[in-house]
Amino acid sequence: MQRILLLGGTTEASALARALAAAGVDAVFSYAGRTEAPVGQPLPLRIGGFGGVAGLLDYLRAERIGAVVDATHPFAAQMSRNAVEACAVAGVPLVGLQRPEWRAQDGDRWQHVADMAAAVAALPEASARVFLAIGKQNLNGFAAKANHYLLRLVDAPLAPPLPDCTVVLARGPFEVAGDLALLRDHRIGWIVAKNAGGAGAEAKLIAARQLGLPVILIERPALPARQVLGTVEAVMGWLGHADLGV
Ligand code: NAP
Repeated sequence: MQRILLLGGTTEASALARALAAAGVDAVFSYAGRTEAPVGQPLPLRIGGFGGVAGLLDYLRAERIGAVVDATHPFAAQMSRNAVEACAVAGVPLVGLQRPEWRAQDGDRWQHVADMAAAVAALPEASARVFLAIGKQNLNGFAAKANHYLLRLVDAPLAPPLPDCTVVLARGPFEVAGDLALLRDHRIGWIVAKNAGGAGAEAKLIAARQLGLPVILIERPALPARQVLGTVEAVMGWLGHADLGV
């Protein structure tokens, strides 16, 4: 059996890790190392960047990786691009495990924007109370608008990321009841989110729909063409282990 490299950092990656471990598949789980205490996994872990395409290529060869599953977040575009390039050079099969984008339903007040700069531009100039649900990266640009920002982060920041902000520490997946309470307690009037898709971070959008709040939704970055599957079961089948009872 050839070893599988699972690029993680999402709820779906953790679900796939459980399936691989249950099936006794030889696999290694890779984290970027962005959070102080990453979620434990039932697979051997490696943590930290590979060192670009060249570093990933070296790793694939040194560890005799037989297949790569890219289950990183849809906004982790650099890692996904590197995986496409390195796997092509190494001749290693690659599949993306990616959840479908969220689609607006009746009652949603979504404004789709292309990137962070457009999200900043779409916000009021000042005095709004905004749930900035985009993680800890790319926050600086929002200082251009003098709003109050609610940030939900996994780790406590060393310094306030924005001049006027409240930081709540929490790790997904999140529930609708909790997100409704969060939005009400902080008197939120706007939400900025990435169109991540999946169940783990959808609660804030359901809560926004119930409260009739406007959402600025940032579109996913473009990725090179690659095979993408939508479920853990489909990836297990692709790996040729669907008959192992998963
Ligand atoms: P990124 O911009 O695409 O990646 C930047 C660099 O981080 C990559 O070039 C790679 O470094 C390293 N890296 C990223 N994911 C890795 C992984 N799973 N294993 C080893 N190295 C990895 O990624 P990002 O947006 O910073 O996301 C980092 C991690 O957080 C990912 O695992 C992602 O799934 C997770 N995450 C991201 C978001 C988001 O909104 N971006 C949200 C939730 C979770 P080298 O070039 O040195 O190999």
